[in-house]
Amino acid sequence: MFEKEKQQIVNMSLRLYNEKLIVGTWGNLSMRLKDKNGEELYLVTPSGMEYEDTKIEDLVILNEQGDIVEGHRNPTSELKMHIKIYKSINNINAIIHTHSTYATACAVAGVTIPMMVEDMIQHIGGDVRVAKYALPGTDELASYAVEALKERNGALLKNHGVIGIGKSMVDAYKSCILIEKSAKILIYAKILGHVHLLSTEDAEKMIEYYNNKYGQK
Ligand code: 13P
Ligand code: ZN
Repeated sequence: MFEKEKQQIVNMSLRLYNEKLIVGTWGNLSMRLKDKNGEELYLVTPSGMEYEDTKIEDLVILNEQGDIVEGHRNPTSELKMHIKIYKSINNINAIIHTHSTYATACAVAGVTIPMMVEDMIQHIGGDVRVAKYALPGTDELASYAVEALKERNGALLKNHGVIGIGKSMVDAYKSCILIEKSAKILIYAKILGHVHLLSTEDAEKMIEYYNNKYGQK
């Protein structure tokens, strides 16, 4: 079942790993799917497995109640967070959680990534908030992540990492890479001595343009 989607997750995991957005076995990916009866399913990465060794048969499919319907591995330890996000945000189908370095530096410092540059503002939909701290894998972390994601395609998890969401796996990837890039820009701009912010008015115009005109629409 869902061979194409499984391959997409394996390919994206390797891309994230090769681009060092994830290191070691941490981080996780998922997709929202529908079975032939229209029931919602979640395809997730296994917990604590080396990305270079992960094959499509290591991925796990769960139903809305969190019961495994396919796969023989333990699903990601952040399953509650993935499921809660899908249940709270209707129009997204993919989630990537990373521990990327610059973004995690902001998360440790508790610093929101403000509206500074076009690409991040357009794709994320505004600033990148820091979710309140909670232990990994908990219901609290899931709730705080949902809160920080309100009207955004990404957020920072305090003292932990990044959550990037999107309509597709590629969109979720863009959320993660743009958050990492913007975190790096923020840190460098602070070193240079000044962070010039864009106005809410300009940000709104950029988001409007991106959603309705940008690219091959
Ligand atoms: P996994 O269980 O998916 O390996 O999770 C690691 C992690 O990032 C926990 O927050
Ligand atoms: Zn994590």
